[in-house]
Amino acid sequence: MFATRFAPSPTGRLHKGHAFSALTAWSAAKAARGRFVLRIEDIDPTRCRPEYEAAILEDLAWLGLDWETPVRRQSDHLDDYAAAIADLRGRGLLYRCFRTRKTILDSLGDAPHGAMEAVRPGPHDPAEEAERLRQGQPFAWRLWLDRAREALGEATWTGLSFIEEGQGPEGETGRIAVRPEVAGDVVLARKDAGVAYHLAVTHDDARQGINHVIRGQDLFEATHVQRLIQTLLGWPAPTYRHHRLLAGPDGRRYAKRDRSVTLAELRAGGLTARALRAELGFSSVG
Ligand code: GLU
Repeated sequence: MFATRFAPSPTGRLHKGHAFSALTAWSAAKAARGRFVLRIEDIDPTRCRPEYEAAILEDLAWLGLDWETPVRRQSDHLDDYAAAIADLRGRGLLYRCFRTRKTILDSLGDAPHGAMEAVRPGPHDPAEEAERLRQGQPFAWRLWLDRAREALGEATWTGLSFIEEGQGPEGETGRIAVRPEVAGDVVLARKDAGVAYHLAVTHDDARQGINHVIRGQDLFEATHVQRLIQTLLGWPAPTYRHHRLLAGPDGRRYAKRDRSVTLAELRAGGLTARALRAELGFSSVG
């Protein structure tokens, strides 16, 4: 059965871009008479807040959406993620990283913007690692791409792909060859949370039987990383549908950090859910 999801992080109030994304996934589920799952991705202890989670449920209900219950909250499942991390560690596919964001940035020098995403610092020297461990310094676990490549073998590594039913930012569609190196040796377990986005999201998509991932084009690159993780852990490959990003009146995309107009503010200003759905191109809904 068709199953998709909307997976917001409770780090702020939802805005029109979220409404568009949620409606896109929900409408696809309805059209296919499939499942629609709402998942709260709250593994970032510094940025997530319970009041934002409550607001997400309120905003989506106002918009006219319904979803399966109980809603999965990632912070309730840290043991599951730890088990997946332990599996990868046991196979030698991860390495400890004690570096801070700042030391990595400094080591990159004048590297172009965006290089932060593609860092591959590699394991520490064993003596240094032992000393840092002895001192009790916190560390992250990074995916060791070189080892992953060896483990999968050249044919599998170069043959990784996914089906894009929508479009990537450059118009990519159809069968897409995965570029596993695109984001570098990604962190799979953060220092502070014991898990990180790519691991938690792939784990939950598999666990919840999500076979269609519908989300914004801003996560197109993430799909390359996620297909690699799914392959390493033997999890099924969903098909993907990346949708365009909604632009605000100034032509820039909506983002939480810009404090774009929130659904709560629009509602308080008298906008009805019906009018918003029509504006976003979902006039037949509700
Ligand atoms: N939690 C992610 C976000 O809010 C979305 C995850 C996903 O759709 O894969 O950006």
